[in-house]
Amino acid sequence: MSLKRAARVILIGAPGVGKGTQSERLLRRFPQLSAISSGDLLRDNVRNRTPLGIKAESAMRAGTLVPDDMMVRLILNELQTRGWLLSPSSPSPSRLTLSSNSSSPSSSSDFITPTALSAAYPTPQPSDLPSASFILDGFPRTAAQAAALDTAIPINLVVSLSTPLEIILSRIAGRWVHAPSGRVYNTTFNRPKVDGRDDITGEPLTKRDDDDEHVWRERLRKFDETSRELVDHYRAKGVLWEVQGASSDEITPKLFREFERRFVE
Ligand code: AMP
Repeated sequence: MSLKRAARVILIGAPGVGKGTQSERLLRRFPQLSAISSGDLLRDNVRNRTPLGIKAESAMRAGTLVPDDMMVRLILNELQTRGWLLSPSSPSPSRLTLSSNSSSPSSSSDFITPTALSAAYPTPQPSDLPSASFILDGFPRTAAQAAALDTAIPINLVVSLSTPLEIILSRIAGRWVHAPSGRVYNTTFNRPKVDGRDDITGEPLTKRDDDDEHVWRERLRKFDETSRELVDHYRAKGVLWEVQGASSDEITPKLFREFERRFVE
């Protein structure tokens, strides 16, 4: 299905709600959409040993957040490279380069604040072509990143996906894996042919170490804590849309309908 307007979208959802599934389904239904994953961009930079990649690597290894200024630089650079962020009065893509070092005014400092960012982009113009439509995955993660993004390319839909906690926990409790192959079963909706045995090899199924209810409760609590400032930020901007469902299949039609209402009709 063809979009009539540029969709600039973020999906927010706790682990276990099927954010990846919804994202894939949206990309399949609306081929003009692209997905940009901050984690993938970072891993590319680490692999290519760019200055930014080298700096980001230690935070990634430690499982902590990469500093906001680096993340903003990375994402805006990507949007600009794709031609979705235009700054007609100041053709300055080199100022937010990832590969230059001390010769670049922006990278001579390690920090780009939203104000410094607007100085680098005096009149940023997001492209409104439907082909400039994207889903951001993993960015923004903080209100400061969201604010910096707003100054350059305003997001026009933030989808907050939710599934009742008890449903997520029961799904996890029912999950069994065949470790050698990675095949996953679920005692409620995808049972193995023989209880406790892999369909193909007949070998015993096991639980994943992290499929423990306490571990999941803690992950979900942490998600609530960290996502709150983002949700509040976008609610205040009037672009937040909340959707609930017990399963991905229940959420998808609602999401498609909302997308069509906003970007197709
Ligand atoms: P992900 O693939 O989204 O889980 O990201 C992998 C790692 O990259 C994270 O653990 C962080 O260290 C870093 N990262 C990805 N996105 C961001 C972001 N928006 N802000 C800060 N760090 C990030």
